[in-house]
Amino acid sequence: MTSSTHDEVRNAPPIPVANESTEAFWQLAKNGQLATQRCNSCGWQSYPPRMVCPNCHADPPSFDWTPVSGRGRLATWTIVRDALLPGFADQVPYIVGEVELDEQDGLRFLARLSGIDEDALRVGLRLRACFADGGEGTRVPLFEEDPS
Ligand SMILES: [Zn+2]
Repeated sequence: MTSSTHDEVRNAPPIPVANESTEAFWQLAKNGQLATQRCNSCGWQSYPPRMVCPNCHADPPSFDWTPVSGRGRLATWTIVRDALLPGFADQVPYIVGEVELDEQDGLRFLARLSGIDEDALRVGLRLRACFADGGEGTRVPLFEEDPS
């Protein structure tokens, strides 16, 4: 491996790596479908995934990844101006938003926002999930303005 190739790899954004508990999430994302963890006892949806259902505390816990509409409202956001990882240095500034999904009060998903001007940011802005190439065949969820 040449040093330039090594630098390119080191400076690339990290690629999502699925594990046993997130494999279904990433597989659905690859197909353009946003999903949240759903409790098989009470139906409560969580994101990020949990070890115990915060609603019913079912024992033993049992969850599945369930597709959601991907639609919601912007709850809050931050504008990243300094990349903490070298792989994102050429992408700043970018916006990270917390999106409250339509499926359940308080069900919030943290992701980058795509194609939205800083001047257009406001609490309640309607958003929908979209997906970007995450490298090595992965798809990463983002949110864009929902014109509907
Ligand atoms: Zn539950």
